[in-house]
Amino acid sequence: MIISVDRIREEFNSLRQGYEQQLPNKMAQIEENWHQLVGRGLENLGPAELREEWDNFHCSIHRLVGSSATFGLIELSEIAQALESRIKEAIASGQPLTAEVKQSIMALLESLKLSAFASEKSCRERQVLPNIPLYSPGNSLRDGKLVFLLEDDGAISENLAIQLSFFGYKVRKFDRLSGVKEAISKTPPAALIADIMWPEGQFAGIEMIQEIQQQCSSPIPVLFISVIDNMKARLQAVRAGGSAYFPKPVDMGRLIDKLDVLTASEVPDPARILIVEDEAILARYYATVLQQASMMTVVVTDPMQVMQPLVDFKPDLILMDMYMPGCNGLELASVIRQQDAYVSIPIVFLSVETNVEPQLAAMHLGGDEFLTKPIEPLHLIAEVKSRVRRSRILNSYMVRDSLTGLLNHTKTKEQLSREMERAKRQHMPLSFAMIDIDCFKSVNDIFGHLIGDRVIRSLSRLLQQRLRKTDIIGRYGGEEFAIIFPNTPIASAANVINEIREGFAKVRQQAKDREFSVTFSGGVAGFPEYRDANSLNEAADKALYQAKRTGRNRVAIASPTPSTQPTVAGTECGLKIYENMR
Ligand code: GH3
Ligand code: MG
Ligand code: MG
Ligand code: MG
Repeated sequence: MIISVDRIREEFNSLRQGYEQQLPNKMAQIEENWHQLVGRGLENLGPAELREEWDNFHCSIHRLVGSSATFGLIELSEIAQALESRIKEAIASGQPLTAEVKQSIMALLESLKLSAFASEKSCRERQVLPNIPLYSPGNSLRDGKLVFLLEDDGAISENLAIQLSFFGYKVRKFDRLSGVKEAISKTPPAALIADIMWPEGQFAGIEMIQEIQQQCSSPIPVLFISVIDNMKARLQAVRAGGSAYFPKPVDMGRLIDKLDVLTASEVPDPARILIVEDEAILARYYATVLQQASMMTVVVTDPMQVMQPLVDFKPDLILMDMYMPGCNGLELASVIRQQDAYVSIPIVFLSVETNVEPQLAAMHLGGDEFLTKPIEPLHLIAEVKSRVRRSRILNSYMVRDSLTGLLNHTKTKEQLSREMERAKRQHMPLSFAMIDIDCFKSVNDIFGHLIGDRVIRSLSRLLQQRLRKTDIIGRYGGEEFAIIFPNTPIASAANVINEIREGFAKVRQQAKDREFSVTFSGGVAGFPEYRDANSLNEAADKALYQAKRTGRNRVAIASPTPSTQPTVAGTECGLKIYENMR
């Protein structure tokens, strides 16, 4: 990924202009507050409300120290800093303001104003703040990637195409080598699967690929398939830039695995950063910087509003201002970390504070880093990125199942509770499905555990490819999976599961000398019919049991009224073995 420093600079300049333009207003506000407060004195801080007003005043000056430094207004920041410490001392003393203190504060206020006006004047002629979008959700659907299949044997080609399409690939078949080059230059595919032997020659497929690669600016991943399996053919294939070599009959599981890896997009999942900063313009500056590095950001300027975006946006990291009115960064971090789901979320504190003590307190709370404002854009990006990367790796050990990479049981349940809360709040439907592979014990008994594992992986992959990115998939147990469908009515969820059921039944699983196919059963339950995570889970489990009991290879829908438990479809318990494949 390339970070455009010019772009950051440009955005930064326009934010700075906006900041400078609003300075006179800010100054007027500060001055007015000062006059009001000085009239009421400091000697009588007893009433909580007066104390709060003084604290707010202090806070507004403190904020100015950080924001002005970030936007390069060093003089302004220094004056604000001097002013801040004078005010802090005065508040701490609780004594009446002496004429001398008053005088010095007023002098500093005057300098502050002059410095602010000078900055504003210098930018008055310049353009206004552009409207930078703060949040742009990515494409949520798994796109069917285009694969070209070069194979002259119609039956093999047909079978491969069908299998590939089950796993979400769009396949274009070629039974002749002529025309392939042209098609590639028009619509380059995500990958090529090419047979080696053609009527034109024993290695015609390899020669063709060599020509194609030469004409392409960046190489296309190529997977060769062939009845020939010798060193010479494999060597030639590698020299032509082949990424994989599959002797026929092709092991579909391995082919799909390889294809998934080769066509995986470069940026799998952008880092999600929640920015908690009361100074809106600073928040926007951080957001702009992080967006330039392809991260997604959500901004919260009121610390009391932080819980909602935590749930909805599911950030990888929180960038947190230290001093905010109402609640400071450390307190907020404690509140967040007291909830199990956020115990390990990295928090990066930002503050003008250079004192060691509050920094130590921050570390003690589990905050991963403490950065001092102003912070260089590239430094900010580097800090945030490395923390997100590390935390994602650690997280994946805790929440992912090692065989399939799906969420584990605990994490899936946790997500179900979370989605249930959200569904209630937003008055949106929610569906939950449980699926269990049919007669899986027989698969293990007949073909062995390793083949069994591969079947589990093939179902996991199918689910990942067929479901939306917003759906949450977990491996619930051995051959049992759970899917959470946010914002999905039960009928739609049941349809989707049923389509996947039909697709899975058609997948030809590979054993050593045989092929076979397996089926699964599913149970689906929904909110608002079931109103909490536990009863939803239980209902889906019961529906699954119902599907098993009424013949397997079907999907049952849970209903709170016991008389109607419709099943969506069904044939028979479906372990089918296709003998003598070779
Ligand atoms: P049903 O249609 O009623 O679900 O029958 P079943 O045979 O699938 O169900 P049962 O619960 O009797 O057996 C599940 C089997 O799944 C038993 C267990 O050894 C196997 N299994 C569980 N986890 C794994 C795994 O990770 N890998 C493999 N290969 N097998 C597993
Ligand atoms: Mg602040
Ligand atoms: Mg089973
Ligand atoms: Mg089971």
